[in-house]
Amino acid sequence: MRVDSHMHTTLCGHAIGAPIEYAMAAAGRGINVMTITCHIPMEWAAFGQEGIRMQRDQLDHYRYLVHETAKKAKPMGVEVLCGIEAEVYPDEAHMEPMDEILAEYEWDFVLGSLHAHCQSYLMWLKKNKINDDAIRIDSYFRHLKDGVQSGRYDSMSHPDVIRTYGVVGEFKPAEHEEVIRDFLQSVVDEDICMEVNTSGLTKGDFEVHPDPLILDWASEMGVKLTIGSDSHQPNSVGQFFDTIQPMLREKGFKDLHYFRGRECIRIDMPSWD
Ligand SMILES: [Zn+2]
Ligand SMILES: [Zn+2]
Repeated sequence: MRVDSHMHTTLCGHAIGAPIEYAMAAAGRGINVMTITCHIPMEWAAFGQEGIRMQRDQLDHYRYLVHETAKKAKPMGVEVLCGIEAEVYPDEAHMEPMDEILAEYEWDFVLGSLHAHCQSYLMWLKKNKINDDAIRIDSYFRHLKDGVQSGRYDSMSHPDVIRTYGVVGEFKPAEHEEVIRDFLQSVVDEDICMEVNTSGLTKGDFEVHPDPLILDWASEMGVKLTIGSDSHQPNSVGQFFDTIQPMLREKGFKDLHYFRGRECIRIDMPSWD
């Protein structure tokens, strides 16, 4: 049994390929369950740039697209689930439209991402005069912890994505162990999951999200994992799972999780032999 619980559609404006092509790629890699998790609609002002999020009035079409793909993929042996990648922001006013969307529709899976390079977060940092990298990183993990405790999300996606997109100069997890462990503990306490996101291996510093050191702490603390390729093109479905899953097993993780109807399902750590 193999799963990939994070991928996108062209509706977000920065992905390519039809959802059925993602399903075909999944079938080719022996992935039995894939969850499409396009970015939740956001107001442009909160995101900071037009055209790279789906819009509120495209949501029905998104859900239709995923459900049609599910029908076509079933004979290929791939179950397609309908999720959404929601944001984690300290500015409650920017969360309100997302809360409406989370309440209005039934989702299989809700990811929680703090894209620290979005305008909403950059404005928060500016307003609170947080210019120092070390404090930015601590704040980021505190906000992730608040996100965990909000009850909105099933899994916290690419949990050290602050290290990319130039928000901070350098990210050394060992220097932030206390605040990161606090975040991990909240994931355990709230009984949700953290995502292992293999897109980190393609983004310049060539390391998985989260950093292997954070994965060591997570394993020791009993954090449950989901896994996602964060594919924005069909070719990336399941990318690097064949190397990352053996690494996870070495770190002591015996299982992975995915969600259907917001319910957590455990599977054995897949093998790629
Ligand atoms: Zn994206
Ligand atoms: Zn994503």
